Amino acid sequence: MVNFKVGIIGAGPSGLAMLRAFESEQKKGNPIPEIKCYEKQDNWGGMWNYTWRTGVGKYGEPLHGSMYKYLWSNGPKECLEFADYTFMEHFGQPISSYPPREVLFDYIQGRINKSNARSFIQFNTVARWVEYLEDQKQFRVVFDNLVKNETFEEYFDYLVVGTGHFSTPNMPYFEGIDQFPGTVMHAHDFRGADQFVDQKLLLIGSSYSAEDIGVQCYKHGSKSVTIAYRTAPIGVKWPDGIQEKPLLTHFEGDRAFFSDGTHEQFDAVIMCTGYQHKFPFLPDELRLKTNNCLYPDNLYKGVIFNDNERLIYLGMQDQYYTFNMFDVQAWFARDYMLGRVDLPIKEEREADIKKWVDYVDSTTTDVEHVDFQTDYIKDLITLTDYPPFNLDKVAEMFKSWLNDKKVNILNYRDQVYTSVMDGTEAVPHHTPWIEEMDDSLERYLQQENIMENVS
Ligand code: FAD
Ligand code: NAP
Ligand code: MG
Repeated sequence: MVNFKVGIIGAGPSGLAMLRAFESEQKKGNPIPEIKCYEKQDNWGGMWNYTWRTGVGKYGEPLHGSMYKYLWSNGPKECLEFADYTFMEHFGQPISSYPPREVLFDYIQGRINKSNARSFIQFNTVARWVEYLEDQKQFRVVFDNLVKNETFEEYFDYLVVGTGHFSTPNMPYFEGIDQFPGTVMHAHDFRGADQFVDQKLLLIGSSYSAEDIGVQCYKHGSKSVTIAYRTAPIGVKWPDGIQEKPLLTHFEGDRAFFSDGTHEQFDAVIMCTGYQHKFPFLPDELRLKTNNCLYPDNLYKGVIFNDNERLIYLGMQDQYYTFNMFDVQAWFARDYMLGRVDLPIKEEREADIKKWVDYVDSTTTDVEHVDFQTDYIKDLITLTDYPPFNLDKVAEMFKSWLNDKKVNILNYRDQVYTSVMDGTEAVPHHTPWIEEMDDSLERYLQQENIMENVS
C-alpha cells in the first residue's frame, strides 16, 4: 500500500473506471493507495442503474437517474467498448451494435464483477460537503449514511468526483406554461412512452433526449410528436407523425404558439432542454463551473482541476465517447496520483487547457466534434498504459452513425459495426428495432431467434 488515501464520489461508469484502473495496477503486483468510493444509490452503474422512481429516491435525496424504459443505446456499442473487456468476452457470442439499456448494464457489471471493486464502495451514502484543508493538504468530506441516518466525515489526499452531469434538469419557463392543463415534465423524469400513447406531444429542445424520446413515443403509439428547437433543428428526415418547429413563444391553455406564427393543441409537454453541472457538495473554489461542452474550462487534460491539483473530475465532458473515454481518464488520473505523471506548473497547464478550448471553439459540425473528442483521447491515452485501440476507426464509426441517423432515424439501430478491440462483427438483432417492443435482456439474447434470422 502506498501511503495516501483516495476518495471517489459516485460509482457510475466513471467512478467504476477509477476503481478498475487501480485494480489493474494491483493485479500487476504494484502497491495502491487506500481507496474509498461512496455512492448515494443502493447499487452501482450510475445512469445505467434504472429506477422507476421520479423526483426523490427512497431516502428523499434528489433522484439521480434519467434513463427510461425501452432505452436502447443511441450510438454503436463498438464506440464505447472497454479496451480491456470486450463484448465478445462478456456475452460469448456476437450481438447487435445497439443493445438496450439492460444489456449494456450487464456488460458494465461483467467487468467490475470480476474484481473486488464492490468491497471499496459504500452504497446509500451521499457526499454532503467538501472542504480543502490547506495546511494538511487534505480534503475533509462530510457524508450521510442514508440507511443509518448518520453523518460522518473522512479525510482524503486526493478526491475524485465522478457524479455525472445528466441528472439535474435545466428547466426553462415559457409564458402560460403554468396554466397548461396536461402533463409537463423534464426528460429527467420521463420513464417511458406508455403514458403518452394516443397523445399529442410537444418536446422542447433539439438534442439527443428530444430525438430519442420523440422516436420512442412515435414507436410506442403517440398520436403525434412535435419537436421545438431553439438554435437549430435536428434536421433528419422524419416520418409522418414527427415534425420540427422553431421555438414557441408562449402557451394559451393547451395550445402552444410558435415563432413561425403557427399554433397547435397538445396533451403533454416534455422539456428535453438538457442538464446542469451541479455539485451541491462542493464549495465555490472547488466547483467546476461549466455548461455541457466537449472541453470544460479549468480542467487540465480534461481531468485535473487547475485551481487545486488534488481534485480530479471524471466524465465531465459532453459525450460522443463514453466508457472507454472514462477509462482513459481514470488510467491517467491513477498514474498521476501514483506520481508517474509530471504535472507542469499552473501557467503551463493553463496554456494547455487554452489550446484545447480554442480548438473546440473552432469546431462547428458534428463531424468536427467527433474529431475533437477523438484527438482529446489520443492525446490522453499516450500518457497512460490503457490498451491502445484504433481511435481513427472509432471516429469513422461515429461518422457513419451520424450519417445512418440522417438516412433513416427509424432504422439506424439496425446497422452493424465491427469491434476495433477484437474484430468481432456485430450481428443484426433478430427483430428490426422499430418492431421490437421488448427491451429485456432475456428477449435480446434469445438464441433461437438469432439463429433463425442469421440463416
Ligand atoms: P453517472 O452515470 O451519472 O453516475 C454518477 C453516479 O454518481 C451516480 O450513481 C450517482 O448516484 C452518484 N452520485 C451523484 N451525486 C452523488 C453524491 N453527492 N454522493 C454520492 N454519490 C453521488 N451513454 C452511452 O454511451 N450510450 C447511451 O446510450 C447513453 N444513453 C444515455 C441516456 C440518458 C437518458 C442519459 C442521461 C445519458 C446517457 N448516456 C449514454 C451517457 C451517460 O452519461 C454515460 O453513459 C455514463 O452513465 C456517465 O457515467 P458517470 O459515471 O460519469 O455518471
Ligand atoms: P443536451 O445534449 O445538452 O441538449 C440540450 C438541448 O436543450 C439543446 O438542444 C438545447 O438547445 C436545448 N435547450 C436548452 N435550453 C433551452 C431553452 N431555454 N429553450 C429551448 N431549448 C433549450 O441534453 P440531452 O439532449 O438531454 O442529452 C444529454 C445526454 O443524454 C447526452 O449524452 C445523450 O447522449 C444522452 N441521451 C441518450 C439517449 C439514448 O442513448 N437512448 C437518450 C437520451 C439522452 P440549443 O442547441 O439551442 O442550446
Ligand atoms: Mg444540435
